[in-house]
Parts: sequence; C-alpha cells; structure tokens
Amino acid sequence: MVLPHAAVETPVFMPVGTQATVKAIPQHLLEELGAQIILGNTYHLYLRPGHELIRKLGGLHRFMSWPRAMLTDSGGFQVFSLSDLRKVTEDGVQFRSHLDGSSHFFSPEHSIDVQIALGADILMAFDECTEYPADYARARKSLDLTLRWAQRSKDHFEAHQQERPWPDAFAGQTQSLFGIVQGGMFPDLRREAAERLVEMDFPGYAIGGLSVGEPRALTREIIEATLPLLPADKPRYVMGVGYPEEIVEYAAMGVDMMDCVLPTRAARHGLLFTSEGRLNIKNRRFAEDQGPLDPECRCMVCARYSRAYLRHLFVTQELLGAVLNTLHNLAFYLDTMESVRDAIELGVLPALLARVRVRNTDAAARQL
Ligand SMILES: [Zn+2]
Repeated sequence: MVLPHAAVETPVFMPVGTQATVKAIPQHLLEELGAQIILGNTYHLYLRPGHELIRKLGGLHRFMSWPRAMLTDSGGFQVFSLSDLRKVTEDGVQFRSHLDGSSHFFSPEHSIDVQIALGADILMAFDECTEYPADYARARKSLDLTLRWAQRSKDHFEAHQQERPWPDAFAGQTQSLFGIVQGGMFPDLRREAAERLVEMDFPGYAIGGLSVGEPRALTREIIEATLPLLPADKPRYVMGVGYPEEIVEYAAMGVDMMDCVLPTRAARHGLLFTSEGRLNIKNRRFAEDQGPLDPECRCMVCARYSRAYLRHLFVTQELLGAVLNTLHNLAFYLDTMESVRDAIELGVLPALLARVRVRNTDAAARQL
C-alpha cells in the first residue's frame, strides 16, 4: 500500500497514538520497533491542542515529528463512547467534551475538515458506531445514517482535500478517505453496507462496529462474512482488534490493516504478551526471576532487562515500567505481523497459523 508519507507493507498492525503520542513511547523508538503507520484520534486532537493549531504547525506529521504513514479516525467512536449528553440528528452529533463539559458539534463535513487539517495519509468517513447489543431495527436505522454520512464525508473530502497542510514535496500525492462498513451483528446489513460503499467507490474499506462487547466468535463471524464483499485489491481494515492470536487469524483471512489499544493499554497495567502466552508482571513469582520477559523475543527490553526488574518497576509504579512494558508489547505485536508477512511471502502461512493455535492451547493449559 503506497501512501504519501511511506509505502506500507501489509498486513500491518497500527499502534494507537491517541493524543499525538503512542503512550510512553518516543517516535524514534517506534521507528526502531518497525511501526510503519500509526493512528491519531480526531476527537482528542480536536479538543486539545485543536486542529487549527496543528494545521498552522504544518500538520500532525510535523507537529509530532513522525515521518512515516498516519491514519486518523473520524472522531465518531470517541464522541459516542466518551462524551456526555450527545444528541444524534440527521445533520450530526451534538456532544459535550469529556474534559470540561463544553458543547461541540461534529458533522461528517466537520469531521473531514478536522481530519484534513490534521493531515494524515488516511482519513476515515464519519460514521455511527452501532452499540452492542442493538436489535435489527436499531442497527438498520443506524446503518442508514452511516451510509448517508459516508456519501457526505466523501463529497466534502473531494471538495476540500487540497486544504491539507503538507509541504510542496508531496504535491501530486493526496490523502485517502476510507469508508466504514457498519450494520451491527447482522450479516445481511453488513452485506448491504459493503455493497453500497463499494458503489460509492472508496480507495479502501474498514469494518467498524466490532470489539464493542460482543463475543469473540461473533467478531470473527462478522469479519468472515463481510471481508469477501470488499474488493481484495484495495486495503481492508478491521478497526479495534485484537489479541495477538486474533490478528494472525484475521490477517490470514485477508485483513490488511488492524489497530488496537490492547498492547499499549495492557502494558501499562502490567499485562504482557509473550510467545509463551500472557503474563502478569506484578505476580510475586517473578520477584527473583532473572530471565527475560520472553526468551524468544528479540526486542530491546528482552535483550537487557529481567522479569524481576520489570516487576519491581511495576510494583513501585515507576514510569520506566510503563515504557519498557509498552516497548515489549508493541515489539511483540509488530514482530507477529512481520512473521505473518514473511509466511505469506514464503507460502507457509498455514504452518504459522497452526503453530499459533497450538501455542495458545498450550498457554491456556498452563494457566489452568
Ligand atoms: Zn521483548
């Protein structure tokens, strides 16, 4: 996938950089870890420091000194999950800031304006993330609104994309706007959403409205049903997933892009992903453990520090603990995806999948 700021090898995992930072990790280390593309959150950046300020400072890439690719969400998900007193109308969403209670309004047009000002390589259409559970009538109504908003997002983007804050070096290369498939947990609504969006002709498509509290088997079922309806020659992005074993499964199904706060958020809570399964670093059994977090991991943390030291940092609430834990978890996710890309290239993906499945079964057995 060739984007204005970088070519991105897929399938790719995208670390989440909510407030123009992937929490606890400086940008040069993200590069060293092999992060190819990161996410920014439109809702948060709109509230602080404000999109006009970021536009004035040359866009999000320059503001945070991130030379590689970037994607911004539409702000819709945060508006629906974080803000109080939101009121959805045909025109958009009236909401109150989770910071100071001030009143704001997001429409598809405004979301696109904010995203153009931020200047990411990929923008997302403004959608309504249907809550779970939602009955058929509710999912139907929500999807219809999302589809009307998708067309408005696209029309506005096409009329205003030249307002992006990039320097001349990128002349001729433009931002891309992706459409988002909603439809709750109903395969026929998902099908309709996919068909309508493909008619609108976006350069890439996301499957949204998953990881919202539904059982994992259902997440997988919806992805499996929706993916073949989206063109395989354009990027297909599943938003907000998943555990390491899931991202391997989804990549094997044909998903090109995934993002999730799990590796970074879990790291700050001491939950670490390893080739031997998950471990909780605060556990007393690590107090005298001089081994690395993950003997198979080649990251800078596993090469240098012991489980005993990482446990100590966590127990004493030292900031370095969050930094090192996050570094490892991100390395684990990014390396996992790299091994998927290698396996695809070598034609040995089924073997890798089988290995991941066996490893999970073993890890689950050990935890019992
Ligand atoms: Zn490691």
